[in-house]
Amino acid sequence: METQEKVYYEEELNPEFLDTIKELSHSNEIDRCIQCGTCSSSCPDAAYMDFTPRKIIALTKGGFEETVLKSFTPWLCASCYNCQVRCPSQIKITDVMYAIKRKAIQENVYPSRFPIPVMYKEMHKILTKNGRSSELWLMLNLYLKTLNPIGLIKMAPLGLKLMKTGRMSLKKESIKNKKQLKKLLKAVKENT
Ligand code: SF4
Ligand code: SF4
Repeated sequence: METQEKVYYEEELNPEFLDTIKELSHSNEIDRCIQCGTCSSSCPDAAYMDFTPRKIIALTKGGFEETVLKSFTPWLCASCYNCQVRCPSQIKITDVMYAIKRKAIQENVYPSRFPIPVMYKEMHKILTKNGRSSELWLMLNLYLKTLNPIGLIKMAPLGLKLMKTGRMSLKKESIKNKKQLKKLLKAVKENT
């Protein structure tokens, strides 16, 4: 197997990054990581990640903000909590993955043509606007924003079948009381 080496320099570090992630994940225990690797060996998706959960924790502790925020790892995390329940240092690893995703979206540095963060963003837009998801519009926006028209064409027959059986609609679904939704979202924002 070919080993790829990358040198990281001190000027790439953000010494405040660890505190940011601790605050966003409510996980002060990150400092207690002993690099045992239990998280990585428990993770069903580790083989597909560019950095295993153990490495993500080490990079976060080291302040490698850009590397962590641009990583595919948090977007591949299935939120199964295996790592979190098995960590001997009781680090909230799954919550750390959520915090990294949140920060990557805030800073606009997530892997841009990777479908998962784009889907999160599009879903968030639809839900905050209408209070309900509309699968057809979500999928259309996803394929267009990830510049994948071939994927869209391939999915078209399935989309048509779902529309014929009433499982998907051109109509954008929406709740009645959008004012209440706005109030609720405002309160959540103010308290997080
Ligand atoms: S299981 Fe916990 S202590 Fe072990 S490497 Fe993972 S985060 Fe660190
Ligand atoms: S929660 Fe995420 S990182 Fe942890 S084991 Fe499951 S998939 Fe892997």
